Amino acid sequence: MSDRRAALVTGAGSGIGRATAERLARDGIDVLAVDLRPDPDGPGTAHEADLTDAAANDAAVAAALDCFGRLDIVVAGAGIQHVSPVQDFPVDRWQTIIDLMLTSPFLLARAAWPALADSPSGRYIAIASAHALVASPFKAAYVSAKHGLLGLVKTLALEGAPDGITATAVCPGYVRTPLVERQIPDQARAHNISEEDALEQVILAPHAIKELIEPSEVADVVAFLASPAGRSFTGVPVTMDMGWSAR
Ligand code: NAD
Repeated sequence: MSDRRAALVTGAGSGIGRATAERLARDGIDVLAVDLRPDPDGPGTAHEADLTDAAANDAAVAAALDCFGRLDIVVAGAGIQHVSPVQDFPVDRWQTIIDLMLTSPFLLARAAWPALADSPSGRYIAIASAHALVASPFKAAYVSAKHGLLGLVKTLALEGAPDGITATAVCPGYVRTPLVERQIPDQARAHNISEEDALEQVILAPHAIKELIEPSEVADVVAFLASPAGRSFTGVPVTMDMGWSAR
């Protein structure tokens, strides 16, 4: 087994996943950077996968083991959003969001489990959301997937404990990424207000601190959880939501 730890990060082409892949690589960890649109010039070894396809999740884990001969850290971060009132919510978008943001994290855990158990410090880290803890209107699929993801993490924590695997759900408030930037026009339409008002009045409304979080700040928390200092964090949401869930 190589001396360097190895990580698989999904959603590594953009936003939080990309910042996480960069940070883990800087920390001396080998990274398989998995994405629908991987950046060949980005951090780590790029691996293209559509994670709504079940077999692609197994293949991503197999690729990490092929590349590095071990797998110590799984970061399930790929995600999308769809904003719509429930009566108009397209059923195919619901299914895609559940496949990508709940079933893929399960499949990755399932495939990676033996390697995480072999690791001296296996870490399963889901990029969940404040929406794993609280809801917002017009986000039925996203909120449901994130609440389910927290349930998955709690279950994995209990199953992983005998093998030294921890499982955590990082729960950020709004982070400055394309996923949020794309919601501004949708929210403006759904609430019938301007895009400027949508950012201030809708998106940042639940934050006690009226600022976006930076992707690198989420990556810092993932790096902490992946470090030896993170070993007592398991089965829990790690909430970093600018005071959102204090209400
Ligand atoms: P982003 O849009 O910047 O990045 C998401 C990445 O996922 C993209 O690179 C995209 O190509 C990839 N992806 C999409 N569909 C995929 C598929 N079928 N297969 C493989 N990869 C796919 O978004 P982000 O804001 O960095 O979000 C990352 C994670 O963080 C998501 O799970 C999101 O729910 C969560 N999150 C984001 C925020 C926020 O405010 N941005 C807050 C809390 C949680």
